Amino acid sequence: MKLYSTKNKQAFTGLKQAVLKGLPDDNGLYMPMEIPRLPEAFIENLSDFSFPEIAFTVCRYLFKESIQEEDLRRIIQKAVNFPAPVVPLDEEKYVLELFHGPSLAFKDFGARFMAQLMSYFNEGETRELVILVATSGDTGGAVAAGFLQAPGIKVIILYPSGKVSMLQEKQLTTLDHNIFALEVDGTFDDCQALVKQAFLDKGLSGALRLTSANSINISRLVPQTFYYFEAYKQLPRDGKKTVFCVPSGNFGNLTAGLMAQRMGLPIHHFIAATNVNDVVPEYLESGLFSPRPSVRTLSNAMDVGNPSNFARMIDMYEGKTEGSTWNNMRRSISGYAFDDAQTREALAEVHRQYQYIIDPHGAVGYLALKEFQQRRSGTKGVVLETAHPAKFLDEVEHVLNQKVEVPHRLAVLAEREKRAVWMPPEFSAFKKWLLDNVA
Ligand SMILES: *Cc1c(COP(=O)(O)O)cnc(C)c1O
Repeated sequence: MKLYSTKNKQAFTGLKQAVLKGLPDDNGLYMPMEIPRLPEAFIENLSDFSFPEIAFTVCRYLFKESIQEEDLRRIIQKAVNFPAPVVPLDEEKYVLELFHGPSLAFKDFGARFMAQLMSYFNEGETRELVILVATSGDTGGAVAAGFLQAPGIKVIILYPSGKVSMLQEKQLTTLDHNIFALEVDGTFDDCQALVKQAFLDKGLSGALRLTSANSINISRLVPQTFYYFEAYKQLPRDGKKTVFCVPSGNFGNLTAGLMAQRMGLPIHHFIAATNVNDVVPEYLESGLFSPRPSVRTLSNAMDVGNPSNFARMIDMYEGKTEGSTWNNMRRSISGYAFDDAQTREALAEVHRQYQYIIDPHGAVGYLALKEFQQRRSGTKGVVLETAHPAKFLDEVEHVLNQKVEVPHRLAVLAEREKRAVWMPPEFSAFKKWLLDNVA
């Protein structure tokens, strides 16, 4: 497999380097040089294949000889080991539950697969790989669980003290083994600044093999294509065209859907659903892309003012002129945005009408699908339910005025003992800790 940077389509990188580096030096994003079409017979007979078998086939065509078949099988067995069930609301609306992994959000798919690929490409290296992650809450849990006991890898997670929820904190601080949590006496920005400075520090880069578990790493994008196929397999063959509705922030999930479509999955249309951080719906409407600082909302994992994967979306629709890129994208993707009051109403409506408890991110998706289907009938729509409602317990219980069941794997965390290292927001202290404890 070869990859180019969205900022330079002439220079190619192999999969190993793209995975271990994360970002090209020119600050573009890695994209596959070729997105191969899968055989029609495979797509028509998806129901003959298990979820891991589907994932294996997608990777075989995409990665080609970059990974040995047996190794790939092993990687997938470890990474794709929880289901992605489709639940019908009615004959036109379906929910794809992506929260059955350890951290109860779809980011588990990306994090687990990235962990396996990084370990694989790191094999044979004598020095450990040290991954630095700053988290505002959600991503850290998925990364920590994904990398737990990955051979040859240590993960250092920095989180802002008192600014993540109790359960989020427990997800970061109760794993041990190769996962280290640093509780930073500061903000998320302080955490990010420490990580950035570490990558620039000559003393550290001499002593440690540092890398990041960045959300735009290609190894997080690829596994997100798997569940579009898995969802399609579970839908009825009723002649209705399939539409996917993706609650979006950085637009990695939606970009993966575009890749699945390029690979031949018959997806008729995409819906980009956002909260009031609506730069992409705005672009689809006006042709103008104006990134701006994010606004805090109920669906906080989508509070993104400058979506990092937008460059990949542009890349996939690039036309000869700027206007033609916009028109190409608009033909495939419709965008809708909703505020918190509408999100709360949707939570209640989905429960009242369908007896289904959806989370705030899924609720934004539900609203977008409903609006789309009011204009275009005769489709069946799948909303990606990106997190379990119990992750937003207070809000969901308050809106529904009833208790929400907390999954066992989340509930047991509350009992576990937190282990974190207290860290002032100063680089000298962070550097000293790394050299004393990790090098
Ligand atoms: C990260 C996240 C999103 C946004 O996904 P993108 O790929 O960044 O668009 C949506 N919902 C939840 C629960 C998330 O954690």
